[in-house]
Amino acid sequence: MSDPKSFHMSPEEFRRQGHAVVDWIADYQSRIESFPVLSRVQPGEIRSKLPTNAPQQGEAFDQILGDLERVILPGITHWQSPNFYAYFPANASGPAILGDLLSSGLGVQGMLWSTSPACTELETHVLDWLVPMLGLPEKFLSTGSGGGVIQDTASSASLVALLAARERATQFTSNRKGCDGRLVAYCSTQTHSSIEKAIKIAGMGSDNLRHIEVDHKFAMRPEALAHQIESDIKAGLIPCFVCATVGTTSSNAIDPVREIARICRDHSLWLHVDSAMSGTAALCPEFRFIQDGVEFADSYAFNPHKWMFTNFDCNVFYVADRKHLIQTLSILPEYLRNQATESGAVIDYRDWHIQLGRRFRSLKLWFVIRHYGIEGLQHHIREHVRLAQQFATWVRGDARFELAAPAQLNLVCFRLRAGDDSNQKLMERLNGSGDLFLTHTKLDGKLTLRLCVGQTHTQARHVEHAWQRIQQETGKPGNS
Ligand SMILES: *Cc1c(COP(=O)(O)O)cnc(C)c1O
Repeated sequence: MSDPKSFHMSPEEFRRQGHAVVDWIADYQSRIESFPVLSRVQPGEIRSKLPTNAPQQGEAFDQILGDLERVILPGITHWQSPNFYAYFPANASGPAILGDLLSSGLGVQGMLWSTSPACTELETHVLDWLVPMLGLPEKFLSTGSGGGVIQDTASSASLVALLAARERATQFTSNRKGCDGRLVAYCSTQTHSSIEKAIKIAGMGSDNLRHIEVDHKFAMRPEALAHQIESDIKAGLIPCFVCATVGTTSSNAIDPVREIARICRDHSLWLHVDSAMSGTAALCPEFRFIQDGVEFADSYAFNPHKWMFTNFDCNVFYVADRKHLIQTLSILPEYLRNQATESGAVIDYRDWHIQLGRRFRSLKLWFVIRHYGIEGLQHHIREHVRLAQQFATWVRGDARFELAAPAQLNLVCFRLRAGDDSNQKLMERLNGSGDLFLTHTKLDGKLTLRLCVGQTHTQARHVEHAWQRIQQETGKPGNS
């Protein structure tokens, strides 16, 4: 019971209900394979089950939790199902969930070092751990000129990289005077749409974003980039930023970072490397070829919230020279002044991203790294890649199918040779069955199915079952 003079939840009641919630989550994990992976509700169906107005009087917690099961669960697409192969994963794990819960429990707002020193120092430390873990260049360490910061998403990371590039190219005057309309940025035709959004937000204008053509593997063609930059300079424009992608969203293509970096250096352009999902693969030395040349990048980002068992949201963003970022984003109103900041001895992460306030996100990342250890993380990443490669082998062995792009890591892009209609129908039947969930893209103008192995609990039997279901739906009794 609540304290009669208070509407708050007492610590005793919190303890009781907290146990019930953890039980609920553990039960959810045990029965997750019994749900259709893709939610089957119609638009408006969930809202129609909710009361029109908010309750006048508080309700019992059991009742609220009951409605999670009754009302909310049918409207959930089960991202944590081992049969989830759609988009890129947003995987989670026990230690991450518990770390996140503790972050909520502490309820810290870590905008300044002084608003909770541990929130800043743990983040700096864990992000320094990740540099050698991923084989990234030492210049990203906080002990040198650079440093890392947790952003909410890769989209935000790209935006702040672009803003810093814009400022560096205009001697830090754009912030004061507004954006010079001659600034130009570059990415490939396969780059994530967040770059176009960033260009718009940064005030640079989407007409000033050049989409460079790609080769047969969907990777940026460096000679086309060099050519475009030169013709823009001739036209009196000011090239300032290139985004290279390690693992594009559509097909997992890997841009040639080393060659792109050389072009960037020739013209003093900021190079940002977006490795949102595939960056996690670099935990394993044998996959580090994907980031060849990253030592020349000005900034780098990957999402532990995609493939590194750390629940959403958690993007890790590094800069080679933190001065550029801080000079771009710092503000100091009187009410935030404090001794630690003035002393210059601390990091105030509010100057490293768009928003002021920040959650204690490093806690979940710290829990994940300590729970699994480097070896545990490597084990599961290798296993996901092995399973995706196995799936690609099955596709290659069935003459009705073709691979639509090189399957280099954990994404397989494949399609029936019979054409778009057949592929569309196959995808609808698979997803409609609830047995698995995969999504599509277009490559070379053709509808292509994507199967991404990266959910925390996906094992061999799940991927075997996915291939069996594909065989059944295409008229072959499955036996892989
Ligand atoms: C998923 C993805 C993004 C966007 O990720 P958010 O963290 O949701 O912003 C950006 N770039 C690439 C290459 C991605 O795969």
